[in-house]
Amino acid sequence: MVHPSWLEIAILAILLCISGSLFWLRFRKPVDVIRRSRDNPDFQLRPLGPRIRQFVWEVMLQGKVIRERPLPGLAHAFVFWGFCAFALVTLNHIAAGFGFPFLSREGGFGKAYFAFVAVWAVAVAVSIAGLAIRRFVARPIWLGKVAPESGGIALLIFILMITYLAGLAMDETTTPARANWWLHTFTLLAFLPLIPHTKHLHLVISPATVFLRRAGFSKIPPLVGDEDFGLDTGKDVTKLDALQAYSCVECGRCTEHCPAYNTGKILNPKEIILGLRRYLNEEGPGNEEPLLGKHISMEAAFQCTTCGACEFQCPVGIQHLPVIIGLRRGAVNTGKWEDDYGGKMFLAMERTGNSLGFASSERLKFIEKNELPIYDGTQEYCLWLGCMGSYDPQGREIVLSLVQVLRHLGVTFGVLRKEKCTGDPVRRLGNDLLFQQMAEANIEQLKSANLSANATKLLSICPHCVRTIGEDWKEFGAAFQIEHHSELLARMQEKLPQRTDGRERVVFHDPCYLGRYRGVYDQPREVIARWGEVEDPARARERSFCCGAGGGQMFLGEEKGKRVNVERATELAATGAAVVGTACPFCQTMFRDAFGTLSQTPPKLLDIAQIAAASIESAAGRAMV
Ligand code: SF4
Ligand code: SF4
Repeated sequence: MVHPSWLEIAILAILLCISGSLFWLRFRKPVDVIRRSRDNPDFQLRPLGPRIRQFVWEVMLQGKVIRERPLPGLAHAFVFWGFCAFALVTLNHIAAGFGFPFLSREGGFGKAYFAFVAVWAVAVAVSIAGLAIRRFVARPIWLGKVAPESGGIALLIFILMITYLAGLAMDETTTPARANWWLHTFTLLAFLPLIPHTKHLHLVISPATVFLRRAGFSKIPPLVGDEDFGLDTGKDVTKLDALQAYSCVECGRCTEHCPAYNTGKILNPKEIILGLRRYLNEEGPGNEEPLLGKHISMEAAFQCTTCGACEFQCPVGIQHLPVIIGLRRGAVNTGKWEDDYGGKMFLAMERTGNSLGFASSERLKFIEKNELPIYDGTQEYCLWLGCMGSYDPQGREIVLSLVQVLRHLGVTFGVLRKEKCTGDPVRRLGNDLLFQQMAEANIEQLKSANLSANATKLLSICPHCVRTIGEDWKEFGAAFQIEHHSELLARMQEKLPQRTDGRERVVFHDPCYLGRYRGVYDQPREVIARWGEVEDPARARERSFCCGAGGGQMFLGEEKGKRVNVERATELAATGAAVVGTACPFCQTMFRDAFGTLSQTPPKLLDIAQIAAASIESAAGRAMV
């Protein structure tokens, strides 16, 4: 705009005030809700390094969005980068409306910058059109109901780009150029108040959400004081929970990867987050109405396997698991959750100290029968058996194979005379009291066995034990070093025989608690590669599909819809591999059950410890597993 009249300046000023006020009127609500929510007692901004790194990667470079969905991710990234490029020309556009442009089309920098932004305008126009077609025409099922405002926003962005490009092609002094300038301005001022009213609120707050999210994957915050029961009512919602609830962009990435949703359960992680947002909008953060009920389904919250696929996928830093487990805590700790299977498991744990309900003497008999050495503080490793390794027949086989491999490798180890469940299933189901009892009894036991935070490590066949001991017990001051057997075996793989003939195809299933939770993907594959040809199923590594056991689901009886383990086992068997490789005793049990339902001859199921033992046996010329 050149030489605006006083009337034009007055109209622009009024429209700017109206647009800004409407923006603030709508934006004030989430800001107010977040401000009034409870503080996050465990929140620490430091260390800043990882936060800055994740901000640069996820926000500035849009790395996560592109990595997980390359084409729509790239389109989204072009829109974001285009907006960044547009910031300066938009400020200049408004300044020009008041008669004070600071970028000139004639000046060297201005000329270059307008041309640079023109390239972005084309990229944004094409990308936004593509995203709109995907959202309104292709309509992937996990997007769910698409809000019509999204279409309006896409149209406004498209008009902004076209009017910008048209303006560049026009003589600024002509009437059509002036009309085009005003069309661009009206569009811009209409766009602004729509932002806080739609999912596009994420444009403003998601950079903060990514930067401020809790450190660590699936972090369960500690309860504070005797009155904290988890997420029971609106009073328990924290600032981070509220910020994350308002950041959801409704992209459905979490839903797309959720094993519960994909097998016909009512759980939809996106709806959990949107349900929390609806609660905050309608009831407010200080409300005493239970969170589970009108806005969030209790049944859905208890269908979660805690696989972490949702949290891993979310492009705006939303952490579903602290919310889902928080809701379970709120229901269990206040006695609102009633479930026969869950109740029986809690009782078994209280009485016997293990999730399977066996007498602890059975564990001792197993140790004595197999002459497992007792840990006395002198060995390199304390082998943690866990409930599955202590009582479950298949879990015991895995332990015995690992013992054979450790002896072959010359690694010294011992087992504890007494162990209780780490508390993993009760922790994830929200029973904090029982979890505390299990953790504290075990910590005492380990300390009395001379295992402290020194160089000695714990070793486990179970990724759930590794996670719970290594992370969750920190709440009680424990700092034990623990690793999964795949990590140790991969480190010492050179000492495992390399099988050269008769190598079988092994499809490896990444356990959620080893992969997404611990970032261990290559090590089990390296162990398997000593013996057979490793291959991946369709969903592998970070995108692995849960076996269905986690989050206490293994103990909760019949599932609704298709069984998660059957879905995954079918996918694994469909690869045609002779062997399914596992690295978690829960996964193995789930697949053993599921294979019984398949019509074709199922593949062999072997843990990586059993595979390593098979390599040793085959090298020694003995019968293979
Ligand atoms: S953790 Fe897994 S099962 Fe639970 S909601 Fe997320 S994706 Fe679904
Ligand atoms: S929670 Fe995250 S992944 Fe799920 S719909 Fe919202 S923004 Fe997308």
